Amino acid sequence: MGIKIKKLKFKLSIFAGRSISFILKIFLKSSAGALPGKVAMSIYPDILKEVDQRCNKTVLITGTNGKTTTNNLLVHIVKGKYPLILSNLRGANMPQGLVSAFINDLEDGYDWGIFEVDEGSFKRVVRDLKPDYVVITNFFRDQLDRYGEIEKAFQDIYESLDPLDTTLILNADDPLVSNFKKLGKKNIFYGVLENQFCDSNQNVVETNFCPGCNEHLDYSYFNYGQLGGYSCAHCGFENPERKYEITDIQYQGENYRFVLNADQNLKDFEFKYGGIYTAVHLLPRLWKWALIWIRLPNELRVLNISWEGWKIL
Ligand SMILES: [Zn+2]
Repeated sequence: MGIKIKKLKFKLSIFAGRSISFILKIFLKSSAGALPGKVAMSIYPDILKEVDQRCNKTVLITGTNGKTTTNNLLVHIVKGKYPLILSNLRGANMPQGLVSAFINDLEDGYDWGIFEVDEGSFKRVVRDLKPDYVVITNFFRDQLDRYGEIEKAFQDIYESLDPLDTTLILNADDPLVSNFKKLGKKNIFYGVLENQFCDSNQNVVETNFCPGCNEHLDYSYFNYGQLGGYSCAHCGFENPERKYEITDIQYQGENYRFVLNADQNLKDFEFKYGGIYTAVHLLPRLWKWALIWIRLPNELRVLNISWEGWKIL
């Protein structure tokens, strides 16, 4: 395709996408969703490459649970320092959702592109969008998940990460996620240490097989689902050393308090959690706080934020 025709098609795709978005907002009072991106991609299928070129640094967040919160939290933090951020904050996490975000927030360049990506779409997205960082939160099997879907998603993500020059930010407490270290990338591990809310009941886990050798995986404690302290007597597979870890979780009054040990740098956190005060609800949220110390530029680590009832003490 000639360069002129390419440019024309790109402009046409943006025009079409924005028109759809405009119509949806006027008549359906709905926010953009994935349709504008879908239309734009049908006109100019390489549009995610354009997104890639316009973002100085890119973070992709994938996994079963916690993508949207992590994405929104990260954007909230990074925005304090860098105003030009492109993100799919509304949670449309397929390729067309990322493109919709681009169409609705069109700039010539962005400091950061921060996107949550559906596990099933990861392969397609990284074909065009080359991330500097990839956060993998966890792989949970829910009722809707047909057997084999997690394995397929894992395999797709694994294979598509292999050729990339990227830093992985991995949940050390999920054996399926920590297994990504086999790729030999630069890894940053985070997790939640054993605490008073942990469960020692092995029955809560359906898939406690070692990803290294398929033998039985032993757990000394469970945090949530298959997340916890694990080791394999057969091949030695175990939690990798966490660079960022949450310790000393306490429940006082109406608040949870915990310590985030970030690279030997201790920070106290507090947050109010409304609803049922159970560890099951608490723990998945804590992981997101370990994430904020991912190796972003140093100045971003100086946190002075409050977000949805959370604060740093
Ligand atoms: Zn093993």
